[in-house]
Amino acid sequence: MRTNRFMPEYKTAEELQNLQLKGLQWTVGHACKGSARYQKRLLDAGIGPQDIHSLDDLRHLPFTTADDLQEGYPFPLVCVPFDKVVRIHASSGTTGKRKVLCYTQKDIDDWAYFFARCFEMAELSREDRVQIAVGYGVWTAGVGFQLGCEKFGAMAVPVGPGNMDMQCQFLVDFESTVMCCTASMGLLLAEEVNRRGIGDKIKLKKMIFGSERSSEAMRARMRELLGLEHMFDIPGMTELYGPGTGLDCVHHTGIHYWADYYILETVDPETLAPSPEGEIGEMVVTSLRKEGVPLIRYRTRDLTRLLPGECPCGSPLPRHDRLLGRTDDMIIFRGVNMYPRTIDKILSATEGISCEYQIVLERGSDGKEYMTVKAERDQSVDASQNENLSRKIASQIKHSILVSATVQVVDYGSLPRSERKSRRVLDNRN
Ligand code: ZN
Repeated sequence: MRTNRFMPEYKTAEELQNLQLKGLQWTVGHACKGSARYQKRLLDAGIGPQDIHSLDDLRHLPFTTADDLQEGYPFPLVCVPFDKVVRIHASSGTTGKRKVLCYTQKDIDDWAYFFARCFEMAELSREDRVQIAVGYGVWTAGVGFQLGCEKFGAMAVPVGPGNMDMQCQFLVDFESTVMCCTASMGLLLAEEVNRRGIGDKIKLKKMIFGSERSSEAMRARMRELLGLEHMFDIPGMTELYGPGTGLDCVHHTGIHYWADYYILETVDPETLAPSPEGEIGEMVVTSLRKEGVPLIRYRTRDLTRLLPGECPCGSPLPRHDRLLGRTDDMIIFRGVNMYPRTIDKILSATEGISCEYQIVLERGSDGKEYMTVKAERDQSVDASQNENLSRKIASQIKHSILVSATVQVVDYGSLPRSERKSRRVLDNRN
């Protein structure tokens, strides 16, 4: 049963709106006062703190982008004096210069509080033992999990990523019940536990995945090998505190997000018009209490959609879908816009196919673009099925994205695996 130590106090949609409006007014005022860049941006847009009368006014506020956080390197958009800054974190900077974010003590306290809410949402108890196998350091992940776990009151086992020997040993010796890691690492661990035959010596019940999407097939494999009860997706980005800004509940109907800490909008990445509820758009966030570096309509480049209706768990916290890709993951192949996730979904739904795959894009000597999808055959299926499976997948791809792909079914275990995020799209066209 879920306790209610870290859940929001509001009960109705109206109470939430009032709370968000107050937070929005405070944020715009704070940003305008604290940062010359924000002040100028608001002035250019002809809107100030005094103009925010309702949540609809959010739409008139200018967007903030990754550029705004990179151009002011090393300390962009800081809105408090430096004697109030108690910590910095940086994003790993997959594209361009890294983004450095400043935190006040209140920011850290807020983060720990709502991260504890993640563990509550996942229905952990204080008796749980949480093995934290994500990176520690200047990146936000590890320390966020750690703070949240301690605040919640469960036992943290801070291991960091990799080191399968130690992970397996701790699972056995400390009887960890919860594992926090990337989905790729979770899969490696599951295979390792299976290989060592220690499945009956461990007490693992739940896994919480950060920073990487996991396919249905990966989840099915981990569930099977580890006997897991639940797997959760934890969203989060350094710009908005770090990981822990939401979690799916045990009904797994989407990610409940902390609407009392930030407003989530979805917009069309091309036109920037709001996407209708239920439709995929770019996730845009506005913080409501963040002091160090508040965010006003920050374009995250992540794609998701807001989910309508109420969750069976009855939580008043709204939901968004899992992250469905990055706006810059979009592949334009022969003039067609597509996301790797579509291929992922097709493969996951194909019986006899495992969860590792690769999409290779090339330009032929005729100047045309070619796509090859490499998919691993399931362990239980033999190679005589390759042709049959390839044909099935190719026809599904043609049917759902209207492009032709060459499909190669390869042996189980032959595609590269990584403890971090696996690279699944190889674009060799240029
Ligand atoms: Zn729920």
